[in-house]
Amino acid sequence: MAHIVVLGAGTGGMPAAYELRAKLGAEHKITVINERDYFQFVPSNPWLAVGWRDRSDITFDIKPYLQRKGIDFIGQRCDNIDADANTLTLDNGDSISYDYLVIATGPRLAFEEVEGSGPDGGHTQSICSVDHAETAWGAYQKLLEKGSGHIVVGAVPFASCFGPAYEFAFIVDTDLRKRKMRDKYHMTFVTSEPYIGHLGLGGVGDSKGMLESEMRNHHMKWITNAKTHKVEEGKMFIDQMDENGEVAKSHEVDFDFAMMLPAFKGVDAVSNVDGLCNPRGFVMVDDYQRNPKHPNIYSAGVCIAIPPVEATPVATGAPKTGYMIESMVTAIVHNIAHSLKGEEPEKVGTWNAICLADFGDTGAAFVALPQIPPRNVAWFKKGKWVHMAKIAFEKYFIRKMKKGSSEPIYEKYVLKMLGINRLKG
Ligand SMILES: Cc1cc2nc3c(=O)[nH]c(=O)nc-3n(C[C@H](O)[C@H](O)[C@H](O)COP(=O)(O)OP(=O)(O)OC[C@H]3O[C@@H](n4cnc5c(N)ncnc54)[C@H](O)[C@@H]3O)c2cc1C
Repeated sequence: MAHIVVLGAGTGGMPAAYELRAKLGAEHKITVINERDYFQFVPSNPWLAVGWRDRSDITFDIKPYLQRKGIDFIGQRCDNIDADANTLTLDNGDSISYDYLVIATGPRLAFEEVEGSGPDGGHTQSICSVDHAETAWGAYQKLLEKGSGHIVVGAVPFASCFGPAYEFAFIVDTDLRKRKMRDKYHMTFVTSEPYIGHLGLGGVGDSKGMLESEMRNHHMKWITNAKTHKVEEGKMFIDQMDENGEVAKSHEVDFDFAMMLPAFKGVDAVSNVDGLCNPRGFVMVDDYQRNPKHPNIYSAGVCIAIPPVEATPVATGAPKTGYMIESMVTAIVHNIAHSLKGEEPEKVGTWNAICLADFGDTGAAFVALPQIPPRNVAWFKKGKWVHMAKIAFEKYFIRKMKKGSSEPIYEKYVLKMLGINRLKG
């Protein structure tokens, strides 16, 4: 019997546990450890931050759903990984031993990299967790009471997830239009990307042209190549860099409400393990999602090390999106099954990306196969159908995480018809 521990119960960890359970015999024990006892559907946070959802819509208690499938759950933070002894230490002092460890701990939100940023003691909001999105909703309501002002939305250096910043900007714009208050607010998008629509991906299809046009149509100004380096109450300090990485212009932008996506790093328990991570604390993996130094440790999701798609004047990272993460998970599950039989791992995830970005009453969808260029397929399309599709996807994914089928049969065949598979070969 082997004990497989999945660390983190988010977009990567939950499907990993369900797929492992479906693939491996009942003689193997699977335990999920997560610092919180609830699952949160992160892509809905922009809606929560404008009051279109509340916490109960997008969270649920993890334990009963995993238990129903014969998966153990521990709602504790892991504080230490002893990779040589195959042991985890939890914040209640318990030790858990494993034969295989799947790390899916997502990002640590490194607000400290920009002085004065972040919702805990800083002056900017975040939508990266359900708690942050609730705090942002409180600040947004104060802005509405004020009746006018300047809204700044964007992403700081070393951010690697730009889509949600665009989503949030357009969702706020839609919400203000619905309230017939849009004419009272100025909006500026401030991003470390070299151009609008870069997305940490070197662009996808005509994402640059389409997003610029959308921003012009919605009266949003923008600052790209923005090295946001300090935030004070109501004021953001930004150096705009030229293509050689020199300061082209310094801005002091006044704001009444700001939501800036932070830099991502690896969480402490993971980044402290000798030889496991790159300097920013992301887990290094080979083609099989396996750590080269500790081959019984696999990793999927935002916590893995992926090189940036290209060098940019201000540091940007490559995003790890939902379907891409699920493809990593499927490869891990197959490779652990091989390893249990004494075979070498052989499955490689496609890292394909299918993304729906909601703009409030319309939206943009992109498909990038694979996500990292050069690509076989890349398109970026706008339409009202994307808004509807994103709502449907929210319901679908939360249901899928409760039912415990990581890749329902219809999902598998529909995507297959579109030429989108989770595994290479
Ligand atoms: C606001 C936002 C919107 C997004 N929208 C989309 C979208 O629409 N489509 C898309 O494809 N992608 C989207 N993404 C990108 C990506 O899909 C999500 O970030 C996704 O949640 C990442 O999954 P993950 O499993 O890597 O990390 P997470 O979902 O963050 O899960 C990590 C889990 O690990 C737990 N954890 C961390 N440290 C520890 C520890 N030491 N001990 C125990 N547990 C720990 C955390 O509590 C968390 O539950 C979005 C990202 C953000 C931030």
